Amino acid sequence: MSENLSFVSPTPNSPWGTYLQQVDRVIPYLGDLARWSETLKRPKRALIVDVPIEMDDGTVAHFEGYRVQHNMSRGPGKGGVRFHPDVTLEEVMALSAWMTVKTAAVNLPYGGAKGGIRVDPKKLSLQELEKVTRRYTSEIGIIIGPHTDIPAPDVNTNAQIMAWMMDTYSMNVGGTATGVVTGKPLHLGGSLGRVKATGRGVFVTGREGARRIGLDLRGARIAVQGFGNVGSVAAELFAEAGAKIVAVQDHTGTIVNENGLDLSKLIPIARTVAGAVSFKGGDVIPNDKFWDVPCDILIPAALEGQITAERAKKTTAKLVLEGANGPTVPEADDILAERGVLVVPDVICNAGGVTVSYFEWVQDFSSFFWDEDEINVRLDRIMMNALNHIWDTADKHKITLRTATYAVACERILMARQERGLYP
Ligand code: NAD
Repeated sequence: MSENLSFVSPTPNSPWGTYLQQVDRVIPYLGDLARWSETLKRPKRALIVDVPIEMDDGTVAHFEGYRVQHNMSRGPGKGGVRFHPDVTLEEVMALSAWMTVKTAAVNLPYGGAKGGIRVDPKKLSLQELEKVTRRYTSEIGIIIGPHTDIPAPDVNTNAQIMAWMMDTYSMNVGGTATGVVTGKPLHLGGSLGRVKATGRGVFVTGREGARRIGLDLRGARIAVQGFGNVGSVAAELFAEAGAKIVAVQDHTGTIVNENGLDLSKLIPIARTVAGAVSFKGGDVIPNDKFWDVPCDILIPAALEGQITAERAKKTTAKLVLEGANGPTVPEADDILAERGVLVVPDVICNAGGVTVSYFEWVQDFSSFFWDEDEINVRLDRIMMNALNHIWDTADKHKITLRTATYAVACERILMARQERGLYP
């Protein structure tokens, strides 16, 4: 359980505290809408649920689950579900708020939400994992739905888990409600391109960032922290564009090769329980040394709070692409800006996933499915339009891309709030 049960007093150095500071920084750019800004600092609704299951050995285990709906002024809640032993209510609050900003930044008709279960899924059998997923879905079933709040995959959750969530919700309401979650398997209303969408979005925004600072992707050295859905796909796309992936860190450790890691061999190995460190085509180094590896582009794609002030001071990267949510603490953000390092912030950099989730939801409602080229062309266009608009805002006010993204997004969110008015 999170120690902090208040919306307004974050635990020091917590993701929620980081988010609140990010909001404070944008208030001067909101004009008259600033009078609504407190809305951004409080989730609309936070649900804590008990998830009891009978384990394979006959014992009964209890897990704690959360679903937070941060803001729904612009549409239904949207956001992933994370299975991780360190998940807290406060972390889920921050992740839900970042979803609000992200969906508004790319102008999708959604609000922001997020969910999580405090569990280590690697310690569960497949049957136990299914039971945890189904019981959690049933417990949060009172607030999710195709028109109210639509979960998706996040850390340690995948298409199979989304299929169980869709089935459980459907059984409880009667009928087949494919639109209740996104990131589903293809034959259950999933969308082509969804699995790779977040990594692809990191590549699209990173390619533009590199172009704007005059960094040639051919031969560029890239360090990637987190080598799951987001990190491995982004790495693959950059390697295809001619970059060298010189360092990879996952939960098993750090592996480096200054000539570039062979991704065709590393990716299948990293997917096994043995993880990236069991790959023989590079040297294993201590985790702390990952931040010292000379690189041109740094892609944090694991968890929050990874780029600390100390790490920001020493990185040689010219470009940071935030595949993960909340990887940079505010102090480190300032240091990177002072050092002239361009940061493409999470709320636009990793928005490719929710964009293709939106395509999936639209396709489910129309029961008409697009081919992969159409998905990728539309994804590229939406992300580039959003990024260009954000860049213009950053140039106009001489602010960082992060503050500019918040300015664009928060104006849309608070305008919707103002136009809808307060009930009663
Ligand atoms: P994933 O479960 O597929 O992969 C997570 C990766 O992080 C794994 O390689 C794991 O080994 C690594 N990792 C975990 N703990 C670590 C640690 N302490 N140090 C180093 N590596 C560690 O998850 P994902 O879906 O790729 O999500 C990664 C990040 O991207 C998260 O911050 C998530 O919120 C964000 N994100 C994901 C999506 C999506 O569509 N999946 C969309 C937007 C943002």
